[in-house]
Amino acid sequence: MDKNKIWGTTLNYLKANTTELSYNTWISPLYIHHIEEEAGIIYLAWPNQSKLVNHLNEHYLNQIENALNSSLDKPYRVVIRQEKEYDVNKIDTTRMKNPLNQEKLFNPRFNFENFVVGNSNKYAHAVSVAVAEAPGEIYNPLFIYGGSGLGKTHLMQAIGVQIIRNNPSTKVLYVSTEMFTNELITAINDNKTRSFRNKYRKVDVLLIDDIHFLQGKEATQEEFFHTFETLYQNNKQIVITSDCPPVSLKGLDERLRTRFSWNMIADIQPPDYETRVAILKNLAEKSDLEMNSDLYDVLCMIADQVKDNIRELEGAYNRVIGLSQLLNEKITVDNAKSILKDIIKDNEQAVAPERIRSTVANHYKIKIADMDSPKRNAEITLPRQVAMYLCRETTELSLPKIGKLFGNRHYSTVIHAVEKIEDELKYDEELRENVETIKAKLNIGRR
Ligand code: ADP
Ligand code: MG
Repeated sequence: MDKNKIWGTTLNYLKANTTELSYNTWISPLYIHHIEEEAGIIYLAWPNQSKLVNHLNEHYLNQIENALNSSLDKPYRVVIRQEKEYDVNKIDTTRMKNPLNQEKLFNPRFNFENFVVGNSNKYAHAVSVAVAEAPGEIYNPLFIYGGSGLGKTHLMQAIGVQIIRNNPSTKVLYVSTEMFTNELITAINDNKTRSFRNKYRKVDVLLIDDIHFLQGKEATQEEFFHTFETLYQNNKQIVITSDCPPVSLKGLDERLRTRFSWNMIADIQPPDYETRVAILKNLAEKSDLEMNSDLYDVLCMIADQVKDNIRELEGAYNRVIGLSQLLNEKITVDNAKSILKDIIKDNEQAVAPERIRSTVANHYKIKIADMDSPKRNAEITLPRQVAMYLCRETTELSLPKIGKLFGNRHYSTVIHAVEKIEDELKYDEELRENVETIKAKLNIGRR
């Protein structure tokens, strides 16, 4: 395979499909270092600062992989590394061992690369990355809180994994508060409190999960207080997660509550629609499913139905994909709905405006963000007007609200769009067909 040719084609494609700034900063410096044809891996090299490789992996890897694969006849996986890393013995840093032998407690999926960033978690994500790059230095302790299934454990373990990757000899200890409590009880019974203390007070990084479990457990709180003090005084990083902010932790020693609020408190909120779709797309990519419009519609349907818990979102996805594959059925919205019939809320028949926007964007192959942009070329304007029209027709939203949804446009623009589409539907056959197809995807007019 001709590396330069492949990369040349890919660059042209990416140039046309990313912003100029992203392209110049993140994409154009990359080059193909080598290709392992049998393993199906393309190794890209990044010549600049090694810290930025994480950002590349998080934000551009999928896009680059897709672009590369669109011009190849078998799918390749892409690995991006800092240029220099190729020189040193080709170590796979992802498989680095934790000196505390905690592999079993770390979920191999819980790293920053697999964490989808959206409005609901971008703040918690940013401070977590900062902590991972400079443990004990900036945000200590770091307190992350949020509802169940929103990614607290994932983020916390990602911090631990990244610290170990950056510096393999760092002693990172992950423990759930429940394990901490049980271990303490056993240690007291067996007269082994000394070794218990040694274990917890001699680490470089302590990740303690679900601290709300300490509520009402006075003896454990006392022990944890001393652990905290020792580590903190030695500038060791402490990361805590909880289902609520420190102030709401009832039945917790005041001294602990204040300490938890000493430095950084970050919350994770339920994901918005676009983040839910992005998380599902990420899962589909991981399971090597080919993205086509049927699959995309199924993902949108799931994202529409499961809103408050990412664990459940993943569960619904796994059920649909697993069962379709088992029964050897095509993955379609109808099949998916019947698989998920117990969780689909029939009374919620109204179509969410976000779903209209994403379905229309997908149908016309434009970006959702284009709907909000000031662009006025026909390829963008028409889908935007169709989406506005459908919002008007199928939701209860007022004209000004619809305008707001589309990049803060004035409501007169919405009126214009609705009237124009209504008019054109009368004589434009192609438009009529497009609108019908979109409505079918949204399941409008079929009930
Ligand atoms: P919590 O500890 O808050 O209850 P978890 O960290 O266990 O939640 O996350 C639940 C599931 O959702 C995990 O499988 C996790 O990988 C996934 N998940 C959560 N947030 C994200 C995200 N932002 N991107 C990708 N997967 C996520
Ligand atoms: Mg958890």
